[in-house]
Amino acid sequence: MGARQSFEMSPGSDEIILITLDGSPPPEEFEALGHLDLAIRSAETAAEAMTAAHESHPALILLDAPHSNSACVELVERLARITPKTSLIVLGAADIQPFEDTVRRAGARAFLPRPVDRSHLVETVEETLANRTRGPASAIAVALRQALDRGEFRLHYQPIVDVATERAVGAEALLRWNSPTLGDVPPLRFIPLAEQMDLIEAIDEWVTYAACYQVLKWREQELGPQWVAINISLSGLGGGRLLSSIKGTLASARAPSRSLMLEISEGALLDRSKEIADTLEDLKRVGVRLAVDEFGTAKSAIEYLKQVPFDSLKIDRLFLRGVPHDDEDCELVANIIRMAHGLGFRVIGEGVENRRQLEFLRTHGCDLAQGHYFSPPLPNDEFVAYAARN
Ligand code: C2E
Ligand code: MG
Repeated sequence: MGARQSFEMSPGSDEIILITLDGSPPPEEFEALGHLDLAIRSAETAAEAMTAAHESHPALILLDAPHSNSACVELVERLARITPKTSLIVLGAADIQPFEDTVRRAGARAFLPRPVDRSHLVETVEETLANRTRGPASAIAVALRQALDRGEFRLHYQPIVDVATERAVGAEALLRWNSPTLGDVPPLRFIPLAEQMDLIEAIDEWVTYAACYQVLKWREQELGPQWVAINISLSGLGGGRLLSSIKGTLASARAPSRSLMLEISEGALLDRSKEIADTLEDLKRVGVRLAVDEFGTAKSAIEYLKQVPFDSLKIDRLFLRGVPHDDEDCELVANIIRMAHGLGFRVIGEGVENRRQLEFLRTHGCDLAQGHYFSPPLPNDEFVAYAARN
């Protein structure tokens, strides 16, 4: 592998977060990476790592993940989603094989068991950088390029429930890809790839149309859910294409603009460009609902939240996991609800898996909730049956 000039690093595309599972590695371990011109920074929390990934290019961010394997998988998923252009490398764990598959599925690019051979580490980091600039050439990238034309995508719908009445009032559309060659590929695996390959705008357009068409059907069937939420990627937010595609879709599907909610992750808001702020204002003018997704994971400033034209805020499921047994998480969730109401947002609690979490949200005045306690994401016919029952 060559020297640094051959990588042609571009801003915003070459961060690497190295997650270590067994304590902070000594800095000597990374001396061998000196020739790569990477800023090496340590982060104590996932939020800090994400902020560092947004701020420094290119950078190697060392994040200590002292928890269990499952917490690590969750962390990798989260980081892969919020900083989609970031490559994640995970270092060290006891049971290697099954865990390696899981972290890779969650979005890690590489997994290196401890003790790490130094030359192996250097090689992996170099390869990761080189692959990013050359673009992904894997089987998944080849299959992804054809997936839209071949009709391999489907949407599943997860009910969003009114906390007071426990009735479904809306739904989140979640993309599913069943590839004939690769089987089911999770969205956290292929969405970052689609972003890198410039396929995401076309996918977002397909999702918008399919979801708008579906919500109109539910309305005709007089089901409870009146709106559908779709996830918009950071790379889809800049530029005017999203706006014109949403206007065009609403018009051709003859869907009222309030029947569509756009979820934009808090991580995307860290990029406070004028272009994104203008797009958000324009979307608001069109009348669609706007929600901050995965709130709590990216430290956005309250001052900024006051200025952006959102109407809802989704508390990330990471925080609900600790409710009601972890005092810190409970306090955090209660504070987020209070703060969000103070700013005029409706609050959606995400990842509700049991009755106690729902009761906690109810006690603290949370408006809406979503999670496996009510229902996992379902294919449309099963969703319709659920909505008819609820
Ligand atoms: P998200 O927007 O945070 O979506 C919620 C994720 O949490 C979904 O994962 C959902 O299945 C999962 N979930 C819901 N309730 C629970 C629960 O009670 N417990 C647990 N453990 N998980 C729960 P999924 O479907 O794998 O989607 C992952 C992410 O992929 C989404 O995260 C979103 O960021 C992205 N994504 C999905 N569909 C699209 C899409 O159409 N476009 C874009 N740009 N991104 C999408
Ligand atoms: Mg979402």
